[in-house]
Amino acid sequence: MKKLSILGSTGSIGVSTLEIVAAHPDRFQVIALTAGKNLELLASQIRQFSPRIAAVASEADVPRLKELCDGLKVEILGGVQGLVTAATADETEMVVAAIVGAAGLVPTAAAIRAGKDIALANKETLVTAGHIFMEMVDAEGVKLYPVDSEHSAVFQSMEGHRRQDISRIILTASGGPFLNTAMEQLAGVTVHDALNHPNWSMGRKITIDSATMMNKGLEVIEAHWLFNTPMEKIAVNIHPQSIIHSMVEYVDGCVMAQLGMPDMKAPIAYALSYPERITSGIKPLDLTELNGLTFFKPDLEKFRCLALAYQSITAGQSMPAVMNAANEIAVEAFLDGRIPFMQISRVIESTMQAHPAHKISSIEEVLEADTWGRRTAASICRGLTN
Ligand code: NAD
Ligand code: MG
Repeated sequence: MKKLSILGSTGSIGVSTLEIVAAHPDRFQVIALTAGKNLELLASQIRQFSPRIAAVASEADVPRLKELCDGLKVEILGGVQGLVTAATADETEMVVAAIVGAAGLVPTAAAIRAGKDIALANKETLVTAGHIFMEMVDAEGVKLYPVDSEHSAVFQSMEGHRRQDISRIILTASGGPFLNTAMEQLAGVTVHDALNHPNWSMGRKITIDSATMMNKGLEVIEAHWLFNTPMEKIAVNIHPQSIIHSMVEYVDGCVMAQLGMPDMKAPIAYALSYPERITSGIKPLDLTELNGLTFFKPDLEKFRCLALAYQSITAGQSMPAVMNAANEIAVEAFLDGRIPFMQISRVIESTMQAHPAHKISSIEEVLEADTWGRRTAASICRGLTN
C-alpha cells in the first residue's frame, strides 16, 4: 500500500490522480489532500478518500471547510504551514505535487526535505529553482518521477539505455489552439478561444500557457534540470496530433518514443506505480484510426513566449523565476480580460528587460525574485490598461 499526500487535489491533475487511486484501492492510500479555493470539491474528496489531514491555502477558509466536513474524522489545516504539514505527514511515502504555479515551491521543498518521493506535475518548481531542487533531491536521496506527459515520455524512453549515449531530447508540442491562426489574427482572440485546447483537458493557467507555447518553454527548462541535459540538446517539434508524447535520440541515430492517447492519467499512473505498470483507464491507441502523424518546427516569432523561455535560461540565475512570475501575472490578467492575448509575451519581455539577473541559492531568494517579478509585471499590466 503506497501512502500518498496529494497537493492540489481539486485541480485537473489532482482529480485524475484520485481517479487512479479509486481504481486501485489495494495499492494506494490517501494520507493528505490539499486545495486552493474549491472547498466543496475538497470536502467531497475527503468524504470519499478519508485522509487523515486536509489543508486549504487560506487560513480564512478553515472554518467553512470544517463546517462542510462536520462529523468526518480529519484534521483540517490552513495556510502555507498547513500545506507543509500535509506534504510532510509521517506516514506519507510519495507526494503528488500538483499545485499550479510558484505556490507549489514551499510545500514541495518541504516534502523533499522530509524524505518523501515526489510525483512532479508542478513544472514551475523546476523552472524557478531547478538547481536548488535537483541538489535537494540528490542530498535527500529521494526519487523524483515526472508527471508532465513529455517528461514521462522522455523518462520512459531512457529506461534501459545509458545516459551517456543520448544525443538529443525531442519534446513534442501540440501547438495549441492557435497553431493555424495567422499572427495578425492573434490580436483579436478571446479567452474562450484560448481555453479551447484541441487535444488536452487541463487547468486554465496551463491551457493559456499552451496557447502561447510558454508551456513548451517551461517544459524545455523542466527537461534541462530533470535530465541534466544542456538546452542546446533539447529540441521542440510541433506534433499536432499529440500521440507521440516525446522522444530520445541516441548517438547511433536510433530514436525511442512513447506513444499513447493524450490523457494525463497514463503518466500519472506510471509515476505512482513505477517500475510497475498498472491500468490507467485511458482509451487504447489505434494508429489505424488516425490520419497520420505530422511534425514541424515551431515559429518562434509567432510564439514569442517560447523564445523568452530560452532567453531566461541563457541569462540564468534569477531570470527564469522572474520570467515565470511575469507569466503567471500576465496569464491571470488575460484570463480576467484586462490585457489582450498578444500582450502576454510583451509583459513578460518588459519584466525580463527590467531585471538584472542575480545569483540565487535558496528557496527564500527564489521567492524574493518571484515577488519582484510579480510586482513588476503587475505594474506593467496596469500601465497597459490605463
Ligand atoms: P489546476 O488549476 O486545475 O489545479 C491546481 C490545483 O492547485 C488546485 O487544486 C488548486 O486549488 C490548487 N491551488 C491553486 N493555487 C494554490 C495556492 N496558491 N496554494 C495552494 N493550492 C493552490 O491546475 P492543473 O492543470 O491540475 O496543473 C497543476 C500543475 O500541473 C501545474 O503546474 C501544471 O503546469 C502541471 N501540469 C498539468 C497538466 C494537466 O494536464 N493539467 C499537465 C502537465 C503538467
Ligand atoms: Mg506537458
